[in-house]
Amino acid sequence: VEFEHCGFPETLNNNLKNSGYEVPTPIQMQMIPVGLLGRDILASADTGSGKTAAFLLPVIMKVLKETETPSALILAPTRELAIQIESQAKELMAGLPNMRTVLLVGGLPLPPQLHRLRQSVKVIIATPGRLLEILKQSSVQLHGIKIIVVDTMLKMGFQQQVLDILEDISHDHQTILVSATIPVGIEHLANQLLHNFVRITI
Ligand code: AMP
Repeated sequence: VEFEHCGFPETLNNNLKNSGYEVPTPIQMQMIPVGLLGRDILASADTGSGKTAAFLLPVIMKVLKETETPSALILAPTRELAIQIESQAKELMAGLPNMRTVLLVGGLPLPPQLHRLRQSVKVIIATPGRLLEILKQSSVQLHGIKIIVVDTMLKMGFQQQVLDILEDISHDHQTILVSATIPVGIEHLANQLLHNFVRITI
């Protein structure tokens, strides 16, 4: 697989080149085609593997066709990781139409996040605590979400929070779980969150 053969719009191919992404990493080679097909994925991939772009590219391609706002949700365990994901997302989405993102993370003031959320954002990048707080206030509607990524949250005691968040989302969506290690006992959660999923290990 090469990026130019994935059917990306020219703007996206240019963004990849400008970011120095010439050759897909092994996890990208495996995840991108499966993700573009719309399949659910359980992937084990560590930081540094290129996992972020591996899930962002299918997210971008999915929401490009969507009119719902928001239509994608990315959950990360820490503010730092969420910020990194958003900055990569912005790089890859530059110049693509209607691709606004919002960061909903703890440790930063809530009002600006709520303000941004009201401006037709396509992609939410959130930590679970802050998103649950906003959901409790009914300040966000997740029923238009078509693709969900749960990044690195499988063994950090986040399972219940993830389940509480995803309860609100219609079943008509693609889900990608990414974790450095796939902990024993994850099958239960995977089966609750994923449907007919593809398992990817590098
Ligand atoms: P990640 O594992 O997602 O945290 O990515 C690690 C770093 O590799 C990030 O700085 C990315 O910008 C970079 N990266 C991801 N994919 C590629 C690629 N195909 N070619 C070059 N750099 C990449």
